[in-house]
Amino acid sequence: MGRRFTGSFTQQEPIPAVAIDAAVAVLQSGRLHRYNLAADEAGEVAQLEAEYRDWQGSRYCLAVTSGGQALQIALRACGLRPGDAVLTNGFTLAPVPGAISAVGGTAVLVEIDTDLRLDLQDLEAKIASSGARFVLLSHMRGHLCDMDALMRICDAANVTVIEDCAHTMGARWNGTRSGNFGKMACFSTQTYKHMNSGEGGFLTTDDADLAARATILSGSYMLYARHGAGPARAAFADARYEMPNCSARMDALRAAILRPQLAQLDANVTRWNDRYRAVEAGLSQHPRITTIALPANELHVGSSIQFRMPELSATQCRAVVDAALARGVELKWFGAGEPVGFTSAHPSWHYVAAQELPQTDRILATLFDMRLPLSFSQADCALIADLICDAANEVAP
Ligand SMILES: *Cc1c(COP(=O)(O)O)cnc(C)c1O
Repeated sequence: MGRRFTGSFTQQEPIPAVAIDAAVAVLQSGRLHRYNLAADEAGEVAQLEAEYRDWQGSRYCLAVTSGGQALQIALRACGLRPGDAVLTNGFTLAPVPGAISAVGGTAVLVEIDTDLRLDLQDLEAKIASSGARFVLLSHMRGHLCDMDALMRICDAANVTVIEDCAHTMGARWNGTRSGNFGKMACFSTQTYKHMNSGEGGFLTTDDADLAARATILSGSYMLYARHGAGPARAAFADARYEMPNCSARMDALRAAILRPQLAQLDANVTRWNDRYRAVEAGLSQHPRITTIALPANELHVGSSIQFRMPELSATQCRAVVDAALARGVELKWFGAGEPVGFTSAHPSWHYVAAQELPQTDRILATLFDMRLPLSFSQADCALIADLICDAANEVAP
């Protein structure tokens, strides 16, 4: 066989040297727990919270142990009770329905459109039919739905919107940062997201009561005054007695390596988008490949890329994955019958009641997905696009 890509789709960039120095300083101090502070010390986690709040443009920020914990805490802080219906995307990753199940909610799945955004007509219909008071909106793979229209629909129906921004840290809709539309927003700093602390996450909100409830839920004990971007003491008057401690705090080591990464985040958004455009340009040359339309109102963060091959059968889709892999290109396919790696489709979430999503199923049947780590060069991206086109030609000439 001819050309082959030899890079690794799971290779992140190294942690910046300044972040490594900050981590070593934390280790030398021995003070890794966020509340274990010296007398004159603000603490890495509190400083990170203040910096993330300022960068996000929210009123409050809470650092937590993972994006999935952020989702669970947000649902509980917003008043979800066991048995409550929660609307969410039919196409997302397992931590989203997982969080709903973990807090006792009942996931009601909403269809997506061919550009992988929530179908707002189906959302409206399911708000009416389910009586749900919550939407856990997953900005899956960075594709923002029309946020103005979504908020109009949800506000009119008195539905609380929680944004899952695991793939949209840094993205904007009409100039407003993703996460600043709903009541609360959840972010992940897990290795494959836009900042890398191995595991980690943030919650942001403008609501003092929600911020207080989330802080106690995260396991603050009565030490919430040591937070960097939380509400005033008065906001904790009830929450300190009412909210259970779910021990989901971020530690100083992770905060230390995230602070220098936050300083690079905007520059990295540009670097991801350069890579995205290089792959997209190559793929869009192929007559059987349909790339995903990015609306003019969206500032996308292209840390991964999706495309569809609507004419292909399941056998052909599997053959495209194999032909790409033979060329060193790792594609994920959402039409597979069995969950693989990080990829699963709603029929394999057996903890969620089975639901009919014909439109979503039709889209997922021929949907491919690929990571774009910053360790790839522009030339790598152009080569990868060519190799995908070669794989597609081999399967469906
Ligand atoms: C990764 C991810 C999460 C959860 O983040 P973790 O930090 O891994 O718990 C939530 N939603 C989506 C869509 C994700 O991809």
